[in-house]
Amino acid sequence: MIATDVHESLRQNVRRMVDARIRPNAIEVDELAEFPERSMAAFRELELLGLAYPPELGGGGGDLISQVIVLEEVARACASSASILLTSWAALTPIIAFGSDALKQEVVPKIAAGEQLASFCLTEPGGGSDLPGLKTRAERVDGGWRLHGHKRFISNAQHSEWYAVLARSGAPKEAAFGVFLVHKDDPGLSFGAQEKKMGMRGFPTADVILDEVFVPDAHVVGDPARGYSYMMDTLTYTRPLVGAHALGIAQGALDASIGYTAGRTQFGSSISKFQMVREMVSDMMTAVEAARSLLYRSAEIAPVNDERARAFASMAKVFCSDTAMKVTTDAVQLHGGNGYMRDYQVERMMRDAKVTQIWEGTNHIQKLLISKYAYTTI
Ligand SMILES: Cc1cc2nc3c(=O)[nH]c(=O)nc-3n(C[C@H](O)[C@H](O)[C@H](O)COP(=O)(O)OP(=O)(O)OC[C@H]3O[C@@H](n4cnc5c(N)ncnc54)[C@H](O)[C@@H]3O)c2cc1C
Repeated sequence: MIATDVHESLRQNVRRMVDARIRPNAIEVDELAEFPERSMAAFRELELLGLAYPPELGGGGGDLISQVIVLEEVARACASSASILLTSWAALTPIIAFGSDALKQEVVPKIAAGEQLASFCLTEPGGGSDLPGLKTRAERVDGGWRLHGHKRFISNAQHSEWYAVLARSGAPKEAAFGVFLVHKDDPGLSFGAQEKKMGMRGFPTADVILDEVFVPDAHVVGDPARGYSYMMDTLTYTRPLVGAHALGIAQGALDASIGYTAGRTQFGSSISKFQMVREMVSDMMTAVEAARSLLYRSAEIAPVNDERARAFASMAKVFCSDTAMKVTTDAVQLHGGNGYMRDYQVERMMRDAKVTQIWEGTNHIQKLLISKYAYTTI
């Protein structure tokens, strides 16, 4: 197993915090569709927002496996709360990897301290899958760039201080893109209405509108013509994180199903004694453990960041999210009518699981990437 004793001790600490501070609020967070401030307070106390950043930037110096473990454990109880961490971690990945030292010093320490959050802005109303077709443009002006465009379905929108925006920095047909860091107080930045979602209701999603927003050169990440390749590198790290988030949901649904079937009686016997029930639980557990193995493998090789690592990141994202959807659906089935009711949590997990097959590149798009890699191996 790739996880070390240090990782296991992190898992136990986070699990204790989740049981005490996050699990008890999970139903309410979903029902009220409110930002989970109590989860944020708990993340701050355990210094989780800065977990993987270098110590000189106020971070904990953790690795990708540590992030995977934290997301699994938080999403196991409350996927909305885990999404707050996932989004901020994903948004800072290109800045940590490609940003200037001055930019990192300006942005990272406050996020590491849990005082601020960051968002990741790729998708537009015209589409999320066709990323090279994006329309948001960055025009060169004196001392910086002027951004104009519209980003759709942005996680943590309005709650984040910083927005990492992918925009076209060359001529319309040129394949030049930059990553621009926009501050929430920059003139010209505004937000659409909060989306009303099927699941993940406890964390915010809204459009980000850029109306001639000036971004100084100091807030451009690396080379303004290489943003697309920065994002592709970033996704090798962030797709395992999306997989970990999905796997946590699946694990939570499996836990709930084992507990419920052990306690529920029909025909004078625990339903856990019925072979068809046992088969379902066995298939769920096998899928969860298979997903975990692939996920940890993808996290282990992500730092290599070659074609294979990218394909593994996509495989982990697909397998963990498909597992989350299947396992949560089966969990509702195993709970019978109770599974359909909000009090029993598994219906929330099923609603939360769906988006993991859609965001960060739909599973169709991941399969295109995996198959492209497959044909390079012959
Ligand atoms: C709750 C939520 C939060 C989100 N958060 C963020 C965020 O923080 N930042 C961000 O940038 N985006 C975010 N997104 C957007 C998300 O990444 C996109 O929705 C996703 O990439 C799909 O893009 P789309 O919605 O435009 O669907 P489309 O691209 O229009 O796809 C529609 C369907 O067509 C399929 N399809 C498209 N092209 C192909 C192809 N070539 N081959 C086969 N099938 C194809 C897709 O798989 C899908 O089934 C979020 C979305 C949601 C729902």
